[in-house]
Amino acid sequence: MANPIILTVDDDIQVVNAIERDLRQHYRQDYRIMKATSGAVALETVQRLKQRNDQMALFLVDQRMPGMSGIAFLAEAMKFYPNARKVLLTAYADTQAAIAAINLIGLDHYLMKPWSPPEQNLYPVLDDLLSDWLATAEVPFDGIRVAGTLWSASSHTIKDFLARSQIPYQWLDIEQDAEARALVDAVSNEQHHLPVLFFPDGSALINPHITTVAAKIGLRTQATHPFYDLIIVGAGPAGLAAAVYAASEGLRTLLIDKETTGGQAGTSSRIENYLGFPNGVSGADLARRATAQATRLGAEILTAQEVTQIRVDDPYRFVQLADGTELSCKALAGVYYGAALTEAAYYKGKHMFVVGGANSAGQGAMFFSRYASKVTMLVRGSSLQKDMSQYLIDQINCTENIELRTHTSVSRVIGTDRLEALEIRDNDTGETETVPAAALFVFIGAKPHSDFVADVVERNQAGFILTGPDLISDGRRPKSWRLNRDPYLLETTVPGIFAVGDVRQDAVKRVASAVGQGSTAISFVHQYLKTV
Ligand SMILES: Cc1cc2nc3c(=O)[nH]c(=O)nc-3n(C[C@H](O)[C@H](O)[C@H](O)COP(=O)(O)OP(=O)(O)OC[C@H]3O[C@@H](n4cnc5c(N)ncnc54)[C@H](O)[C@@H]3O)c2cc1C
Repeated sequence: MANPIILTVDDDIQVVNAIERDLRQHYRQDYRIMKATSGAVALETVQRLKQRNDQMALFLVDQRMPGMSGIAFLAEAMKFYPNARKVLLTAYADTQAAIAAINLIGLDHYLMKPWSPPEQNLYPVLDDLLSDWLATAEVPFDGIRVAGTLWSASSHTIKDFLARSQIPYQWLDIEQDAEARALVDAVSNEQHHLPVLFFPDGSALINPHITTVAAKIGLRTQATHPFYDLIIVGAGPAGLAAAVYAASEGLRTLLIDKETTGGQAGTSSRIENYLGFPNGVSGADLARRATAQATRLGAEILTAQEVTQIRVDDPYRFVQLADGTELSCKALAGVYYGAALTEAAYYKGKHMFVVGGANSAGQGAMFFSRYASKVTMLVRGSSLQKDMSQYLIDQINCTENIELRTHTSVSRVIGTDRLEALEIRDNDTGETETVPAAALFVFIGAKPHSDFVADVVERNQAGFILTGPDLISDGRRPKSWRLNRDPYLLETTVPGIFAVGDVRQDAVKRVASAVGQGSTAISFVHQYLKTV
């Protein structure tokens, strides 16, 4: 972490050089000394430094400057660095203005020019102020800062992407944090396109797409080859398992995800039923381990890249990405979506509601109960027994701040700028009740993301992909099928295109099942590749 800064501002070049010299002589070990020759230039510097999250310890500023007085400069600079100490350099004629500034902007001190000898007139004052500043200075966060509002969907997307990609970041809520608001105003010309991301190198991105963020933070978003043996669409447990097996068995493998690795499982706060983790494992941890394993074994992974279309031109399968790139392969495997838990900490001490009665809702409620004062689970059925694992039901029963309300549904969501209350309906009596609510999380299942293969492979009405035995009807193969064999277990209506995990019709929606299918598919991929 670089040293904190002392910034001195004076329009007289000789004076500013003299102050700089005296400051360096005494403070250069512990502080960076910077200078500017006008208030406007100094303000630009201040904004740039804040963008990099540098620490400002003290401003030493001349009062009489053309364009912007010292006091006017300090008033603006304080918006970015309210805790920096403020010292004004004055002539006798400015004494009244300096005294007024003590009340006006919280001026810490004013010094008469000339200040020599500095050992007597400058250093004692500044030493005192700097030791005062040091006592309360917070160590600045040395990473990506995301400034936005809790209620901005695009802020949520970015936070979720960073969290699930295991990239540490600091969240700045501009509704709560005036310094962050000033910084956002400065870089976005008060347009308030949120979120704004600030990077340690001083650059900023305004409401970027996750692909831009991924590229900026060094995640791979572009394929290194135009052709692969196997392209896997979706880096959930099924895709990751397929990548691990394929790469370890020598296939040139590319795994692509439109967000980041981990899939729905990556959003789970604790998976307790996956083999080999007696104390459970968080979805993020499982995703991190699997990603590292797939990469180590040689699979190439692209994140923040959506597959928009696939096409078949035998014997090759082509995959089109959202950025227009087209990649080809001999075999293709592919997909789903889920909710994220990154928001929980912001509802500390509040009353949260969870809709749903299956495992994901149970895990969500358990996770939120660590932060919220109370979590109410709204369940349509008569109990949790039908769709939830017993270990979760036991945990929920033992958690004092989780309330379970069965036979209920949300009939109305109330609020002007944000959620304020819910109207809850008792499904037995039809009676409704309005309750204040800080947050509502819905865990009622997800839709398959399979539109990009809609014209290529056969799906059921809900969009789930048919594979293997599902394709045989009355002992007959699908009409479009030209090969002299039945489709393999996880193969779709197009030979060499496989579907694994939750995207398949009648899939068992579990991590272990997705992993099992991902790995099983690779043995069929090998069999298929022998024929092309
Ligand atoms: C909150 C929650 C908790 C859960 N807890 C458990 C549990 O405790 N135990 C358990 O066994 N199961 C649990 N599950 C279920 C389990 O996570 C899923 O069954 C599993 O993740 C399915 O894996 P998958 O690889 O088939 O699909 P997914 O995990 O859905 O992954 C699909 C991936 O494909 C990507 N994708 C989709 N379309 C495209 C496209 N066009 N281009 C590129 N990428 C695309 C998505 O971004 C996603 O990353 C939970 C699910 C949720 C939501």
